[in-house]
Amino acid sequence: MAPTSCSLCRDAKAILKRPKTGQQICKDCFFFVFETEVHHTITESELFKPGDRVAIGASGGKDSTVLAYVMKTLNERYNYGLDLFLLSIDEGITGYRDDSLETVKRNQQQYDMPLKILSYDELYGWTMDAIVEQIGKKNNCTFCGVFRRQALDRGAASLNVDHIVTGHNADDIAETVLMNIMRGDIARLGRCTLICTQGEDTIKRSKPFKYAYEKEIVMYAYFKKLDYFSTECIYSPDAYRGHARTFLKDLEAARPSAIIDIIHSGEAFEVKEEIKAAQKAQQTCKRCGYMSSNDLCKACTLLEGLERGMASSVITDRARKKMDAIGPAPDNIRTIPLFRSTPTIAVELPSQS
Ligand code: SF4
Ligand code: ZN
Ligand code: ZN
Repeated sequence: MAPTSCSLCRDAKAILKRPKTGQQICKDCFFFVFETEVHHTITESELFKPGDRVAIGASGGKDSTVLAYVMKTLNERYNYGLDLFLLSIDEGITGYRDDSLETVKRNQQQYDMPLKILSYDELYGWTMDAIVEQIGKKNNCTFCGVFRRQALDRGAASLNVDHIVTGHNADDIAETVLMNIMRGDIARLGRCTLICTQGEDTIKRSKPFKYAYEKEIVMYAYFKKLDYFSTECIYSPDAYRGHARTFLKDLEAARPSAIIDIIHSGEAFEVKEEIKAAQKAQQTCKRCGYMSSNDLCKACTLLEGLERGMASSVITDRARKKMDAIGPAPDNIRTIPLFRSTPTIAVELPSQS
């Protein structure tokens, strides 16, 4: 049988079937359509303006490595005029994050971008290894997720950037839509499909891979021979998300457009005005100054639980009340540094080789 020719250029031999569309295409056309779709996502949502300083949340994994490569490529090809940085969070997970950070350090050299690494230990005085030692392998991802979100904002503030981009892909967003429906979490459902949200202060946070399929990101990394780290975290990942993921993969196998369809369904949800009005207003955390809908932000609450040796009891509001009933937090309780727009920027510059 004669080899199939690429359905886009009709010239080269098709060597892959696009998971998103089922088209048989050649490698160069795949690179071009993948990059161009991300470019359209960026321009249609007007994510950036010339001169923006943008931090790429980099873990060394496939999503953020491809994101760093594609952001660099598009910034040069279309003259976005962005200053790009790599920002990595070191959760302190021996045998996992220490190895993946070595990949980020190589990416720093390969992509010639400044890199800032901020650790949980530096910010919170706790590594994930120490947290798991206290709380065990249940709820560890709750701590890690809350701490990472704040760490990214604080790292970005110390870099003085306007914007953080993360490698969340279409599969991640569709999974989150499903999880929020299953939990009945209206507030999160209303905002989880937004491409751009506001973080701490004026730092925006966005997801240029919102419509990029995970399978295509893996293909892109593979055919471009990008240097990324593919080991899973040694602590058990969120089991609930795992179920949503398996369900989504089954749906995708039956109908590849299911991922995009679920994102579009999530975008079409409208939260009634009276429900929005009933949601808690944002204020600032009384202890650390981070945005919060309660007196204390989630990170300060979790940190207090750890410091008082009652971490497993601060996951829910009810448990928090129980901790309060035992007595107030000691006056010398640890606070989290905020790093508001520092004039000097401590970054590791790529060494000349
Ligand atoms: Fe953190 Fe959980 Fe992810 Fe591991 S799996 S890095 S503990 S959120
Ligand atoms: Zn082609
Ligand atoms: Zn706080």
